[in-house]
Amino acid sequence: MSDKNKIGWNFDNSYSNLPKSFIYEISPVPVKHPELVILNYDLADKMGLDFSNIDNKELAKIFSGNSLPKGAKSIAQAYAGHQFGHFTMLGDGRAVLLGEHISKNNQRLDIQFKGSGQTPFSRNGDGRAALGPMLREYLMSEAMYSLNIPTTRSLAVVKTGENVIREKPLQGAILTRVASSHIRVGTFQFIRTRENLDELNTLVNYTIERHYPEISKSKNNAYDLLSKLIDKQIELVVNWMRVGFIHGVMNTDNMAISGETIDYGPCAFMDSYNLGTCFSSIDHMGRYAYGNQPAITKWNLARFAECLLTLINPKKDEALKIATDVIDKFDKQYEKKWFVMMKNKLGLIGDDKKDNLLIFELLELMKELKLDYTNTFCFLMSQKFKDKKDYQNEKFNNWRIKWQKRLSKDSDKLMKYNNPVIIPRNHNVENVLKSAEKNDFKPFNDLLEALKKPYTNQKDLAKYQSPPPKSDEKYQTFCGT
Ligand code: AMP
Ligand code: MG
Repeated sequence: MSDKNKIGWNFDNSYSNLPKSFIYEISPVPVKHPELVILNYDLADKMGLDFSNIDNKELAKIFSGNSLPKGAKSIAQAYAGHQFGHFTMLGDGRAVLLGEHISKNNQRLDIQFKGSGQTPFSRNGDGRAALGPMLREYLMSEAMYSLNIPTTRSLAVVKTGENVIREKPLQGAILTRVASSHIRVGTFQFIRTRENLDELNTLVNYTIERHYPEISKSKNNAYDLLSKLIDKQIELVVNWMRVGFIHGVMNTDNMAISGETIDYGPCAFMDSYNLGTCFSSIDHMGRYAYGNQPAITKWNLARFAECLLTLINPKKDEALKIATDVIDKFDKQYEKKWFVMMKNKLGLIGDDKKDNLLIFELLELMKELKLDYTNTFCFLMSQKFKDKKDYQNEKFNNWRIKWQKRLSKDSDKLMKYNNPVIIPRNHNVENVLKSAEKNDFKPFNDLLEALKKPYTNQKDLAKYQSPPPKSDEKYQTFCGT
């Protein structure tokens, strides 16, 4: 048996069997001098893959797409999407799906290369990606995973040995992304433009079988699928709000039907608390700012509902009414979940009619005093760190006394489970990426390691806990191309 077979790939490709219009068969474009940068052995192990006997040269070939695993059948997926509110035809312009690997615990996982060359959906793009943004996605997605937030994962990054031309030449790279699927709201929007009921039924049935088999026998599966996605997305965005994560580009093509966080482009974590926090250089209006994320989630879900109308009810008016009613319930459902999440962050067990006030007073104070979101909860949990002076404020102290009276025996435990003591802070992320681009991967690996236990008080944590040094320059993120 060759080394390659010992890895344990177990492909069973179902998406590539969908109608021709959904996909385009295409191979990754070979690269000149692939070189492995990082391989996620923990994830590989969970997937039932063993790379321990494969040398680095062979690994580089595998994760660049120069040598495809047995059973892979690479395709680019067609989709569309509302980007900053404008509808566009898209598709995998710099990604290919190798296929679906069935993991040892029988999970069906998409294996996708990002940065693997041009496809018919590339429009004017080169189909490639740069090292910094691919390592950034690796770090951020793995951090989210450890924060217990549904997300795609990262299996490997290779350098291609070729430059990509952006504002200046950058080292090219390919990320291997693992997802429970890459079906997006935008996939449904693409099928909607085709006005083909058979294709829509095919996509709905496929999605339900893959992600929500429990509703496969329902009387109105399109309606149930909509309700399922609403629940999933509320759970997701509440989690983002919990840890201060700002996705940054919540276009409908970046909203996965699985409910996983997908596409780590201009994402970043909030430092000081402010609902208007927005880091993305292209988000001039703050459409995807921290505090707008729930409203945008609802907007995207309404776009999803539009795709399903004909299946929800053949009578147009009826369908519209039913869909509007469900979407209208979003706000209440979200608020309820958000409130529970905030109570958990503050260790508030049981009900007290003043809890609402306690929460909003703290948020107000954090905004007014420009307090660091993550560290405020660390401070309340009595984690030691340098910036205690920020909290020596009379108003804050008065609030804290009130809050302390409301605590109970297990409050500590609840808080520890809900408040990370470490997040990938913008300045730390930038620094480790800068070193990695100069071939020094130690800082990157150290940060990655620390982020694996975000709820544990580890040694050397302090260096990752400080808010960014005060500077006049606003931190900016880019779309990750
Ligand atoms: P994103 O902002 O990463 O969600 O990408 C939006 C769309 O642009 C997707 O269809 C991508 O495939 C496409 N895209 C992004 N970067 C490139 C690139 N360098 N070459 C070709 N297509 C790209
Ligand atoms: Mg995208």
